Amino acid sequence: MSDDPARPAAQEAASAAGRPRPVATALAARTYVWDVPLRTRFRGLVRRDGVLVRGDAGWGELSPFWDYGPAESAAWWRAAREAADEGWPAAVRDAVPVNVTVPAVDPVTAHRIVTGSGGCTTAKVKVAERGQTLAEEVARLEAVRDALGPGGRVRVDANAAWDVDEAVRRLGVLDRAAGGLEYAEQPVPTVADLAAVRRRTSVPIAADESVRRAEDPLAVARAGAADVLVLKVQPLGGVRACLRLVEQVGLPVVVSSALETSVGLAAGLALAAALPELPYACGLATAQLLAQDVVAAPLLPVDGAIAVRRPEPDDGLLAAAAAGPMLEGRWVRRAAEIAAVR
Ligand SMILES: [Mg+2]
Repeated sequence: MSDDPARPAAQEAASAAGRPRPVATALAARTYVWDVPLRTRFRGLVRRDGVLVRGDAGWGELSPFWDYGPAESAAWWRAAREAADEGWPAAVRDAVPVNVTVPAVDPVTAHRIVTGSGGCTTAKVKVAERGQTLAEEVARLEAVRDALGPGGRVRVDANAAWDVDEAVRRLGVLDRAAGGLEYAEQPVPTVADLAAVRRRTSVPIAADESVRRAEDPLAVARAGAADVLVLKVQPLGGVRACLRLVEQVGLPVVVSSALETSVGLAAGLALAAALPELPYACGLATAQLLAQDVVAAPLLPVDGAIAVRRPEPDDGLLAAAAAGPMLEGRWVRRAAEIAAVR
């Protein structure tokens, strides 16, 4: 840091020109707190926020949801530090196929979302939405199959909403409506319930919410609870930690985002790019869910895949996404709690 007396004035001028303003937190000397609106409500959220840090290897993102406590958030911080201080292992592919996500919308909208998805040939369709009927889900799946054509793949995500009997019954109906489901993501809440559903249906089962911490994938595999694991880089502590898990677990994985900016998405992309096998489209096409990003060219799909690259924040966009003082204060306190975890 310079102690040039002219610096404060220079800083002020830079800030007026849209330069990002770092704050010091217990985690890093220069932390950028961001806060952006979502285009549509997503799992009860209307905004997304987090911090970015810059290290010798590049930028890292720390953005645990607010229901994650300090101990869980420490894994998210390890992922951010890996990105900033070490970078990621070498890629073995230069593009990662991704799925389009279809929310609990009407069939006409579902059809339009798939055809406007940037060439995605796999669709993940939200089901088990509160207040909707099975008939509405059937209509949505038929529309998605029509939009994809016979070669496309359709998966559903119930976000743990059903019980075992309901899941078995509904999956049979939805499998027929979709012309064959690739898999069903987290139809029921617990690992034991996933295993029970898996024994009673021919639809492959993916575990998502059941994989929240690093010890979870092994528990899922041991219980015979899933055919596929959904992995997210931040909660599992980084790209290398995920690669080690994949080796131990021996199940195919789908890399998914935690609704990050393109800085955080780049870590998911790096994991998907480094995996020895990638049999399924990944859930990384989420940049468009944010109304603003911090990079000039967000990680968006072209021809159904995201090119493997690592975009850097743009000064003006990072400044435009800067959080207000209240949220900044909340992150300063949260960073201290995370830093205190040993
Ligand atoms: Mg899911």
